[in-house]
Amino acid sequence: MTVMKFGGTSVGTASAMKQAMSIVADRATSGAPLVVLSACSGMTNLLIRTSEAAGSGNLREAMECSRQIREHHTAMAAELVRDPERGALLREKVQGYIDELEMLIKGVDIVGELTPRSFDTFCSFGELLSTTIFAAALQEDGHEVVWQDVRQVMITDGNFSSARPIEELCVEAAGRFIAPELESGRIVITQGFVGATQDGRTTTLGRGGSDYTAALLGSWLHAGRIEIWTDVDGVMTCDPRIVPEARSIRVLTFSEAAELAYLGAKVLHPDTIAPAVSKNIPVYVLNSRHPAAKGTVITNDQALLEGMSYGGLVKSIAVKKGQCIINFRSNRMLGRHGFLIEFFSVFAAEGVSVEMISTSEVSVSLTVSDSGAVDRLVRRLQDMGDVEVEHNVATVSVVGDSLRMSRGVSGRIFSALKEVNIRMISQGASEINVGFVIEEREVPQALRDLHHEFFAEGFPGAIFQKPASGRNGE
Ligand code: ASP
Ligand code: MG
Repeated sequence: MTVMKFGGTSVGTASAMKQAMSIVADRATSGAPLVVLSACSGMTNLLIRTSEAAGSGNLREAMECSRQIREHHTAMAAELVRDPERGALLREKVQGYIDELEMLIKGVDIVGELTPRSFDTFCSFGELLSTTIFAAALQEDGHEVVWQDVRQVMITDGNFSSARPIEELCVEAAGRFIAPELESGRIVITQGFVGATQDGRTTTLGRGGSDYTAALLGSWLHAGRIEIWTDVDGVMTCDPRIVPEARSIRVLTFSEAAELAYLGAKVLHPDTIAPAVSKNIPVYVLNSRHPAAKGTVITNDQALLEGMSYGGLVKSIAVKKGQCIINFRSNRMLGRHGFLIEFFSVFAAEGVSVEMISTSEVSVSLTVSDSGAVDRLVRRLQDMGDVEVEHNVATVSVVGDSLRMSRGVSGRIFSALKEVNIRMISQGASEINVGFVIEEREVPQALRDLHHEFFAEGFPGAIFQKPASGRNGE
């Protein structure tokens, strides 16, 4: 069984939806898939705006947002479903959600406060609407389709906006509501991102949560594969906007994919695929605009990995901009113990998370994401020693599973970068990546030099392919 998840841009317009429908129809010839959808692109943001307007007394703005949401979906519905009877039924359903949304707006406006609970209910309408339209459109094309309210299956705790599933309940519900439908050949369409508490209150799993939904449902239903359909050709060797020669990578191990995601690649959040990792279900990242392209498969399956073995060292180079370096120095560190505890407790107190770090006996250098919190943090650190801050730097990470077994890689990396001023280096935190920090303005040069160093001789093995789209977006 296959789980197919389509992101917002893959279902954002009637024509995108048609494309997604044909991909689903194609898969359905070899067994009914479970289809998980995001909201149409832009709709979750618009719903958040709606909720904030309602919560801050701007009833008129909130109602205007709701009008835009209704228009977007009714226009799509009209374009995708032509049969008068089915069309009328679909319009009624769409209008039903909009009525509910407007009731919620008015309720929040009257109470004058947007609670986390009502916030999640606002957000849920995006997925409820996209799946309702998609299911009707597939039916119109003659497919046997079941629309499943995911709130019957994704039973979560009450942590609104970052709810987590209660596993035993979900497994049981997935087996009861979804499995029998798939077994009898009906395509099941359901919502990503949304869930509900045991007493039926709507929750959400956090922004971008639909990938997580797909991985969870896939693991509970023992899927053979999970497909994440997006608008890029999988994971690339480098950002093609900076390095036009970049290729898409056919196969990544789970640990490579996780490193890349943490290190700034925007394709998948590593935590979202953890449920698939634990069951060893391969996750395919595919482009709904170019369904014939092979995309990237993320797997630990030895057979799949060996089938696409790779003689090279580096698989991908990731960049994270908007970082800053904090250099801290204090003679009090010399020969003392316990100093670093004091030092890091300041970070904990300010809620700043440390990304890359390198220390000597009397100094510590580290990177954090640049934000307003950095100023407060620095003021507190100044009481403990000398602090310097460098803004506008980027972390670059060179990732590949075979780095751990190879000699001379750092040498190659840093001699390729002889034109670049390297501000900080870190290796060893993970054996599969070498990271360093440079000024943001030197990122293009550094990436081009590195990509050239590791890929100039071409793209060995069968694991790289030319992107069909030449894009690598969010
Ligand atoms: N619609 C939600 C969001 O925009 C969830 C998702 O798309 O994964 O965050
Ligand atoms: Mg997403």
